[in-house]
Amino acid sequence: MAAAAAAFVLWAYLRDDGGPPRESYGPPAVAKIYVVPIGDVPEGDVAFASGVVEASLGREVAVAEPLPLQEAYYYPGRGQYGAASLLRYLEANAPPEAYRVVGITAQDIFTGNLNFLFGMGRCPGGSAVISTYRMGFYCDSSERRLVRFAKLVIHELGHTFGLMHCRQPRCAMKFAIGYKTLDLTTVALCERCEGNLCRLGGADAAARRANVEAVITAHGLLEEAGGEDGLEPPAAPADLSPEATIGG
Ligand SMILES: [Zn+2]
Ligand SMILES: [Zn+2]
Repeated sequence: MAAAAAAFVLWAYLRDDGGPPRESYGPPAVAKIYVVPIGDVPEGDVAFASGVVEASLGREVAVAEPLPLQEAYYYPGRGQYGAASLLRYLEANAPPEAYRVVGITAQDIFTGNLNFLFGMGRCPGGSAVISTYRMGFYCDSSERRLVRFAKLVIHELGHTFGLMHCRQPRCAMKFAIGYKTLDLTTVALCERCEGNLCRLGGADAAARRANVEAVITAHGLLEEAGGEDGLEPPAAPADLSPEATIGG
């Protein structure tokens, strides 16, 4: 990988700073999850992300009207948008009944001194943003691009429910440095992360797995996702030897 020398950090999370009291845990009966395109995002990507969120939580997802890109959040010197600004932008424009907003942008994003981000989610909190800009980098496969996208949606959504980074290298909550590490993770959550997501998000683990598998299969991604093995929860982090967790 040509850019291996750069300290690429793909995923980040923001600790909730205590801002407005948005419901973080447990879905109120009327509360909805919204997927919100920010700027121009291909319809297929928006629909795919909605399907992944829906599968991951077993809840209906609504697609909100796109939010226009704001020049104020753009850093011309970097050619990137500030991810934390996009989170605040999403929150400020969230529909009143929303308890989660998942923003999707086709623009490159970053935060602080990190080169770029694939996504960022409040941990815990009401919002996450995912960039599709680099999904297809270092691969020439549209299937791999979509599998990466699914992993990121699951990862950032997990943060909004308070899931931290996981030491299991194949768990979708693994903190990945570089595309290679990203491709080593799966769309599956280890049992601990899955248990936490189901408890906090009100989902059922067996139904969740079946739904995620259905989305992956429906898009012809089963092979790229690692087949049945890639959909099985990897061993929990507590089972790992210290060597196996280096790099997280
Ligand atoms: Zn993360
Ligand atoms: Zn995990």
